[in-house]
Parts: sequence; C-alpha cells; structure tokens
Amino acid sequence: MKETADAVVIGGGINGCSIAYELANHGVKRVVLLERRHIAGGPTGRSSGVIRQHYTIETLARMAFDSLRVFQNFGEIYGGSAGFVQVGDVFLVEQKEAESLRTTVTMHQRIGIRSSVLTPDELRQLDPLLDTSEVACGAYEPDGGYADPALAANSICDAARAHGVAVKQRCPVVGLTVERGQIKCVKTTEGEIATETVVNVAGPWGSEIAAFVGVEIPITPSRHPVVLLQRPPRWRHPTPVWVDLINAAYFKPEGATKVLVGSIRSEEGHIRADTETYSQSPSYDEIASYSDSIMKRFPVMSEGLAQGGWAGLYDVTPDWQPVIDHIPDVKGFYCAVGFSGHGFKLGPAVGTIMGELILEGSCKTYDISPFRYERFREGRLTRTGYEHGILG
Ligand SMILES: Cc1cc2nc3c(=O)[nH]c(=O)nc-3n(C[C@H](O)[C@H](O)[C@H](O)COP(=O)(O)OP(=O)(O)OC[C@H]3O[C@@H](n4cnc5c(N)ncnc54)[C@H](O)[C@@H]3O)c2cc1C
Repeated sequence: MKETADAVVIGGGINGCSIAYELANHGVKRVVLLERRHIAGGPTGRSSGVIRQHYTIETLARMAFDSLRVFQNFGEIYGGSAGFVQVGDVFLVEQKEAESLRTTVTMHQRIGIRSSVLTPDELRQLDPLLDTSEVACGAYEPDGGYADPALAANSICDAARAHGVAVKQRCPVVGLTVERGQIKCVKTTEGEIATETVVNVAGPWGSEIAAFVGVEIPITPSRHPVVLLQRPPRWRHPTPVWVDLINAAYFKPEGATKVLVGSIRSEEGHIRADTETYSQSPSYDEIASYSDSIMKRFPVMSEGLAQGGWAGLYDVTPDWQPVIDHIPDVKGFYCAVGFSGHGFKLGPAVGTIMGELILEGSCKTYDISPFRYERFREGRLTRTGYEHGILG
C-alpha cells in the first residue's frame, strides 16, 4: 500500500528541520521530512552561522530578533545545542551609507533590538586592533554572534523526530503529482507518498522541485568560499563578528585563535554554479584576496596564517530575498527557498511562518509580503537599504 502523510517537507537543512518540527509540534500527525543526502548535508552544513539582527527590511529584522531569542534558549526549546556563541556583531559603513545605517538602527531600537551607532573611536574600544580608515560609523549589536549550523539543524531534527516526524535520509524526491490543481503525491527513489501538502525547502535545488509541478522560481545556485585564518598571538582577545560594507567582507571569530573570512559581494551571486561539481575548496587566489580584505581592517593579520577553508552554495533570487509562500497555482504546494546566503539565522522564524501558513491559511506573526512568490512575475522586487543584497 502507498505510504500517506499529512505533510511532506523536502530538504533537511535548518529551514526544513524547523518547519517539520513546527508542524509536528502543532499537532500535525504524519509529517515526513525527506533529505536526499543527510541532515545539513547541503548549504546549512557549510554555513558560517553568523547570527545578526541587522537587516534593513523590517520583517527580516523581526524574524532575526525572534530567532536569536531561540538560539539563546535553544536547549530549553528544542533540546540539544546550536553551539551559539554570543560575541556581538558590528556593521561598518562609510559616509555614503551612514544615513541608511542610522535609519536601520532606529527601526531596530523601535522593535526592541539592542543596537547602537558607534563612532570610529568607540569602535576601536571594541577592538583596539581595528583599522577605522574610511569608516564613518558602525552599528553594534551586543546580542549577535555565531552558531554551529550542522549541530543546530541536527538538534532541531532530533526534536522533530521526538514529536513523531518520520525523517528519511538518502531519499531524493524525483517527482510530484498534481491532480486538478491539487498536489497529490511525492515520488522518491524509495517509493511514493500520498499527501495533499508539500513544502519545498530544497535550497539551491528549490527551482528543480518547483519545476516538477510546472512552477518557475528564479534561483541561481552560486558558489561562495570562506577562508579560515589563524589569528596571531597579538590578536587572541575576544572580538565581535565584523561586517565590513566598505570592503564587502565579513570576519567571524572562531574561538580565540582563528577567524573565518567571507565575502558579501553581490556580483558573485549571479554566477551559476553546477550544484554537483562545483569546487568545494577556496582557490589560491581566493585565499590571497580574502586575506587581503581582513588585513585592511585588521593589519595585525599580516602575521596570520591561512588554514584552508571551504566553499558552499547560495540559492540566490533576483532580489536576494527568499520565497516563503503558498504557490497560488498549485493547491497544497508551499515554498521556503531562495534564502540567498542569509537564511541560517532565520530558521526558527521560518518554521513559525510556514506553520501559520499551512495551519491557519496566513501568517499573522510577520508581514511576509516581501517574500511573495508573485513578485517576480509582477516585476516588483523587494528593495533593501544597502547595495549588498545579501544584507537584506
Ligand atoms: C559558505 C556559506 C556561508 C553562509 N553564512 C551564513 C551566515 O553566516 N548566516 C546565515 O544566516 N546564513 C548563512 N549562509 C546561508 C545559510 O546557510 C542558508 O541560507 C541556509 O542554511 C539554508 O537552509 P535551508 O534549510 O533553506 O536549505 P539548505 O541548507 O540548502 O538545504 C536544502 C536541502 O535540500 C536537500 N535536497 C535538495 N534536493 C532534494 C531532493 N530532490 N530530495 C530531497 N532533498 C533534497 C539538499 O540536500 C539540502 O540538504 C551561508 C551559506 C553558505 C554556503
């Protein structure tokens, strides 16, 4: 007999695990989570895991604010650990973006985020080794930091299992069946599952899953390296996560001895990568250029030592914002895809949104209009306050 489910979630990254958990936690009986590799085996497992609330789009700031509370109290909510380390985070801008930063911080303070605008002198008090050349000001969030994405996703997945979710790994979805506009069946390499509710959370493969039901979602899978460097003995004191809009880079401390460097350049998001064969290591040139970018902000890193790194995929949409929506053309087909390199920290809130969409028919907690599926068809892309789309 064909297996049946009340809901099938496709994709075992942070967002798929969070959605499956949320549905089961709200009483949905037969939830199946399908993952073609293993939990966090896609971009989630390669994420830098930076957790910040600094977004110019208010909905994203609210989602990040709520999700951060979850990461801070992770063990009580899900059990297990997310490996959250609260070191604070700082956004650095030059004069031309100072006004956007101030407006953003005012919005954050209104919604309850602890954030303040600091002068270059005040920024140097956070870390005396910071070079503030060209920096007009910075936004400091003491509550930000970073987590361990693979650990977080697996912990949420364990919590979902404990609530009755059937988790099937090494179980790729190979097709979907629709009858008279209603989703009816998920086809996998292990057999078929009859269901009237499917949630596509397949990240860079999200447009392939949507194509099974004739729905087009513009996602460019693009490759993004990160480089790991050893900090010299002179720079072993605590330091926050730094996001340098001027040099389009971010620096995330890893314990007291290492720092991870990534890029926030938008251009890279439009270069299509082959999701199966892309190079998973940084090249020599990438290591050299990322080392240069941290040396501009922290000249002490001229004494640093490259220790390798890795590369992962972003699922980039034309406006760098996700689609979180019920797809109007196909009843029972929901999508949460296209997180464009900034979707780890939002995981808990994405679960809340999808739970409300599926169980109540609309999202009451957040204004999710920036993530509407139809915006691409209508040519009404979501706008952000900075030139780097990933910052949202
Ligand atoms: C290098 C890098 C650094 C990043 N840094 C940050 C950061 O600092 N902060 C932040 O918030 N975000 C960051 N991100 C982005 C963040 O990691 C992602 O947005 C987030 O993890 C996406 O989670 P997801 O659950 O939506 O999807 P994914 O993690 O993409 O998971 C999708 C899953 O679907 C599975 N799948 C695909 N096709 C099928 C199929 N046919 N059948 C079954 N399963 C399928 C895949 O195997 C995959 O596991 C970074 C990403 C990368 C690559």
